[in-house]
Amino acid sequence: MSEQSAIDHEAFRQEVRAFLDANLPADIREATRLTASMFPHMPTAIAWQKILHRQGWAAPHWPVEFGGPGWDLHQQMIFREEQDLAGAPSTIMQGLFMCGPVLMGHGTKAQQEYYLPRLLSAEHIWCQGYSEPASGSDLASLKMSAVPDGDDYILNGSKIWTSNAHEASHMFLLVRTSTEGRPQQGITFLLLEMDSPGITVEPIINLNGVQEQNQVFFDDVRVPQANRVGAENDGWTVAKYLLEFERSMSYAAPLKKRLRQIRRSAAEEFAADGTPLIDDRVFRRKLAEAEINARAFIATEMAPPVPQLPC
Ligand SMILES: Cc1cc2nc3c(=O)[nH]c(=O)nc-3n(C[C@H](O)[C@H](O)[C@H](O)COP(=O)(O)OP(=O)(O)OC[C@H]3O[C@@H](n4cnc5c(N)ncnc54)[C@H](O)[C@@H]3O)c2cc1C
Repeated sequence: MSEQSAIDHEAFRQEVRAFLDANLPADIREATRLTASMFPHMPTAIAWQKILHRQGWAAPHWPVEFGGPGWDLHQQMIFREEQDLAGAPSTIMQGLFMCGPVLMGHGTKAQQEYYLPRLLSAEHIWCQGYSEPASGSDLASLKMSAVPDGDDYILNGSKIWTSNAHEASHMFLLVRTSTEGRPQQGITFLLLEMDSPGITVEPIINLNGVQEQNQVFFDDVRVPQANRVGAENDGWTVAKYLLEFERSMSYAAPLKKRLRQIRRSAAEEFAADGTPLIDDRVFRRKLAEAEINARAFIATEMAPPVPQLPC
C-alpha cells in the first residue's frame, strides 16, 4: 500500500471538524458571514491565521520544511472544504498563496529564513504591486522605474488596485529596471516595507463603500538590492511563477456551501399558489445544472496536475 493511500481521509475530516468546533470563535464566524467581499476582513483573517498557526495548520499547501503540515492534496481539499462549511474566513492570501511560494521557489536562503516564518505567523501582512494605471492585462508594459543607486534601488511611479495596501506591512512588486529588448526582459521582482519613506497610499472606495483597493504612489523610495527576488531583469519569470499559485486560490468549496443554502431556502419559500419554490420544475432544473457544474468543478480540482512547491 502506498504512503498516500494509507491516510484515512474520513478520520482526517473528523479531526478537522473537531478542531473547527473547538477553535473557531463565534465572532470570527460572524465577521466572515458579514463580509461581502472576495477578500477576508483583514483583522479577522489575521486572528484566524494566528489560531491556525498555533496548530501548525496556517499553510496546508506548504512543504513541511517551511512550516507546512505535510498533508496530501486530498487532505488540503478536505481542510478547505471543512473550513468553508464551518464559516471560517480564508487566511491572508497575498502572503500564504503568493509571496510564500515565490520565496520558496526563487528566494535566497536568507530571504526564506527571514520572511517565511513571519508570513506564516501573520506578523507580516503582504500586498501585491503588479497592476499600474496603464498596465493591467498587458502587465509587461509596466513602467514603474527602479534605478540602481549604491546598494539600493530608487523607485518612482505608481501601482493601482492594490488590495489591502492600507493594511499591509510589506509589498512584493514588479518594477522596470531596463527598457532594452522585449518589455518582459526589463522587469525585476522586489520586496519592500510599506513604511519606507516616499510611499503614499490613496484609498479607492468600492461601490459598497468599503476600502479594499488602493492606488500607491512611490516618490524616490529606497529599496535595498538585497530585497530583489531572482536576478535583475528576470522578474517576469518570478511573476509568472507566482501567478500559478495565485490561480490555485480559487476552489469549489464555497460553491457547494452556497448551493446547499439555496436548496434549503427554496424549500421554505412559496409561490402565490402555495407551491414550494423547490417544487418548481424550471427552478429545480436550474439548481440541478448548477449542482452538476459544481460537482464537475470539484472533480477537476481533485485531478492533478496542480502547482507543487519545492521540497
Ligand atoms: C477585486 C480586485 C482586486 C485586485 N487586486 C489587485 C492587487 O492586489 N494587486 C494588483 O496588482 N492588481 C490587482 N487587481 C488588478 C487586476 O489584476 C487588473 O484589474 C487586471 O489585471 C485587469 O487590468 P485592468 O483593470 O487595467 O483592465 P484592462 O487591462 O484595461 O482591461 C479592460 C478590458 O479590456 C479587455 N482586454 C484587455 N486587453 C485585451 C486584449 N488584448 N484583447 C481583448 N480584450 C482585452 C479585458 O478583458 C477587460 O475586459 C485587482 C482587481 C480587482 C478587480
